[in-house]
Amino acid sequence: MQKTGKVKLPPGKKVAVNLGCDFDAQSIWDGSYNLLSPAYMSRGEFGAEVGAPRLLALFKKYDIKTSWFIPGHTADTFPDICKEVLAAGHEIGCHGYVHENPTKSTYEQETKVLQMALESLDKLGAPKPVTYRSPYWDFSPNTIRILEENGFLYDSSLMGNDLHPYYPRPVTPHSDRANEFGEPSKILELPVSWFLDDFPQTEYLTGGQEGQRPAQDIFDRWASIFDYACTLDGACYILTTHPQTIGRAHMIQMYEKLINYMAERGAWFATAAEIGANFIPD
Ligand SMILES: [Zn+2]
Repeated sequence: MQKTGKVKLPPGKKVAVNLGCDFDAQSIWDGSYNLLSPAYMSRGEFGAEVGAPRLLALFKKYDIKTSWFIPGHTADTFPDICKEVLAAGHEIGCHGYVHENPTKSTYEQETKVLQMALESLDKLGAPKPVTYRSPYWDFSPNTIRILEENGFLYDSSLMGNDLHPYYPRPVTPHSDRANEFGEPSKILELPVSWFLDDFPQTEYLTGGQEGQRPAQDIFDRWASIFDYACTLDGACYILTTHPQTIGRAHMIQMYEKLINYMAERGAWFATAAEIGANFIPD
């Protein structure tokens, strides 16, 4: 059975909420889509130059600390805004170097990418990250081991639960018999969900992803998931946003409305590391 548990919440709070920012900037278009034309680069530039400052201002207005998962490539390309994120007191999490897909990487390749990512965050002056988010929301068979070897305490990339943290188990899939689970990792998983991600719902990719859903639809879904989380004991709500996506005019207004909605109903806004540190296993 899955090893899970509950988040210990401050008095009067109902759900632990992490308003995560995946600060992909230009790296996602390179590492995940191989789209390097000026238009895609400009979309990443928008995230760094316009979206990120809007988000920082929004979090400052509501005195919210959250987690920014910054690829090494973003730290190297846009160091000034990354330093502002750091100076504002947010958690800096690791998010690959150039938004790689790790699923087919060798142990050596994946380790090298992680070292590059950590070196770039170190150059910013960030503390050594304790939380990892896979840029591709997927792992190779070696990823958990590599994270353990590099001292990570938390991961936020997997989907084996939705509203409670858990300890992920390696799984060996078989097509002719039962799959096999290994022992749970010591790394605590703060689970993500494509339903709690702004990117697939709104970003338009020519010939690929339609996106462009109305902001109200997204608000309704995100609020509904939060309402359900409020009925559970010690739940966490891990939202994933991207400055180049949530930073658009119609989205940032919706986001502020959502922050108010959740604040009025007992959200404890916290970093991933704070949520992880307050986890109590069953
Ligand atoms: Zn990302």
